[in-house]
Amino acid sequence: MQLRFETSSTSKEYVTHQAWRDATLERCPLHPAGGCSFARHGTYERVNPPGTRIPRWYCPEGHCTFSLLADCFAARLSGSLQEVEQVVFVAEQAPSREAAADALRLDIELPGALRWLRRRLKPVHAALTLLLGLFPDLFAGCLPTVSAFRQRLGCAWVLPALREIAEVRLAQLPPPLGFRPPPAHAGEAESPNQQQAGPDPPAAIA
Ligand SMILES: [Zn+2]
Repeated sequence: MQLRFETSSTSKEYVTHQAWRDATLERCPLHPAGGCSFARHGTYERVNPPGTRIPRWYCPEGHCTFSLLADCFAARLSGSLQEVEQVVFVAEQAPSREAAADALRLDIELPGALRWLRRRLKPVHAALTLLLGLFPDLFAGCLPTVSAFRQRLGCAWVLPALREIAEVRLAQLPPPLGFRPPPAHAGEAESPNQQQAGPDPPAAIA
């Protein structure tokens, strides 16, 4: 299970300061009254940026691992939320998905670039659409786009800001913004590329 680690650090600052060492989880989320053997359970590595470690805890009685994902990181996707947001923003301004994919990924062929783009665009727009319904007063009349949310919230980076604004709803929002668990069979459907990219641990141990 992923939980929020509140921080204003960028992903590079997080690595430089080894910020995972400051993360704390006082109580077992499954047994807040205590009584279980909940304890810190080391860290796991994220590929990007190099040197990133994510702290985790484990409750043996609940058979559950908890990882604290800092606000700067994309959930279940490689890299930072700012990187994801920039991709979505560029795609929103581009004349077509093909043009955006072509401009953003010079290193791979167009079909692969389009799949890469879709893995970011689709879940971010899905999360923004959900947020319109979850926070109707805040986002009244707003389009479910990064550009519209930037205007409404008056901030440079909306995805990290939304981790704070929508904190109590993160479990309902799809990654890379939210921490919604993948559907039961997602492990089989997940592409090999995505697993190699070093996102968060597979559903089985999440
Ligand atoms: Zn517990």
